[in-house]
Amino acid sequence: MKAVLDHVGIAVGNLADALSFYRDALGLEIEAPEEVASQRVRAHFVPTGPSSLELLEATAPDSPIARFVGKRGPGLHHITLRVENLQAALAQLKARGVRLIDEQPRPGAEGSIVAFIHPSSAHGVLVELKQRVPREEPAPVVRRLTLGDLELISLSDGFFRLDGGAMFGVVPKVLWSRHIEPDDRNRIRLGLRPLVVRGARTMLIDAGVGDKLDAKLTDIYGLERASHLDHSLAAAGLTPESIDIVLATHLHFDHAGGLTMRGDDGRIRPRFPRAQYVIRRGEWEDAMTPNQRTRASYFPENYAPLAEARVLQLVDADTTIMPGVKVRRSGGHTPHHQVVVVESGGHTAVFAADLVPTVAHLPEPWVMGYDLLPLDTMRFKATLLAEAVKGGHVMFFEHDPEVAAGIVVEEGGKRWVERVL
Ligand SMILES: [Zn+2]
Ligand SMILES: [Zn+2]
Repeated sequence: MKAVLDHVGIAVGNLADALSFYRDALGLEIEAPEEVASQRVRAHFVPTGPSSLELLEATAPDSPIARFVGKRGPGLHHITLRVENLQAALAQLKARGVRLIDEQPRPGAEGSIVAFIHPSSAHGVLVELKQRVPREEPAPVVRRLTLGDLELISLSDGFFRLDGGAMFGVVPKVLWSRHIEPDDRNRIRLGLRPLVVRGARTMLIDAGVGDKLDAKLTDIYGLERASHLDHSLAAAGLTPESIDIVLATHLHFDHAGGLTMRGDDGRIRPRFPRAQYVIRRGEWEDAMTPNQRTRASYFPENYAPLAEARVLQLVDADTTIMPGVKVRRSGGHTPHHQVVVVESGGHTAVFAADLVPTVAHLPEPWVMGYDLLPLDTMRFKATLLAEAVKGGHVMFFEHDPEVAAGIVVEEGGKRWVERVL
């Protein structure tokens, strides 16, 4: 966990007196106040470099700030440390026996989420932890597209982070960091975007990272799942029971984690109770016998329970999974990685999964360091993108932090994506 001082909270008895010091005498600038109704408090932020001061003024006699001032007089009230992943931070603190006032994050100022640590665990200081929540995607967004007779719905299982260098293989940081900015641990923020195809039946392609990762991995991968697959399904008018078929492109944890869930009894079982799970046989075999290189991404708890529950259907070759939806082996990323091609009414969409994880991966040599057979990735990507450009296919980018789908355009040897979803 990395914690940065965000601000120092100061309880104020009389705002005019406080302003005469902080604003008039010190010459600081006071921002427009923000009212936190639930706490019956008005917060005035005072920027002071990378951190700030927060002047807290009670708006009602029963406000916690009024009680604090009544008991101890005005003065230092709390400090706020900013963390990247509040959920993971709370899990880590709890595991170390730290007494928490809030076991779950709650909404704070400026769209952030916060949680307080009890002063008895923090040497007499009231400590607030805060995570900034990016404004781009506050609530689950349902992005839909009609393709002939089929409906495509791009879902979100939140965001995660992977090492930027590993995401771009041999491409130097000076080049890739122009497209995606790394954080202070050199990680880049990536989407988790399963796709629903609705036609004769309702199919889910990949299922996100799921909720079985422990606190350590949650921190390492910077999971942001305040809004996850269940929220996204609900926003699309679907439930886990709506899904007839779950199709996996491959079994890495960021695609297969959501195939299973831990029940109340602690046992892991299929996440979608009515679904048949379709997996490529070669991928299944590789994932069930991981080696030293592949072990970090293949967690059998994500898929082995499917066989035990007898809901697993292994597919050997490129084939049609339901009318309009077929799989095509790409290899490269894993030897049996497959892309999904959806066709209806003369239109084509391609779910490229980890073959082209983000729009920054369009150039052929921009291949992930994770890929087991990078030359195969380059070959298949060249074919797939050439077809997409020629046919005007809609491409889905499972890990792009912003673009769920777009049309690939090529001109003068340069390729880019015109966003559709
Ligand atoms: Zn993968
Ligand atoms: Zn992936």
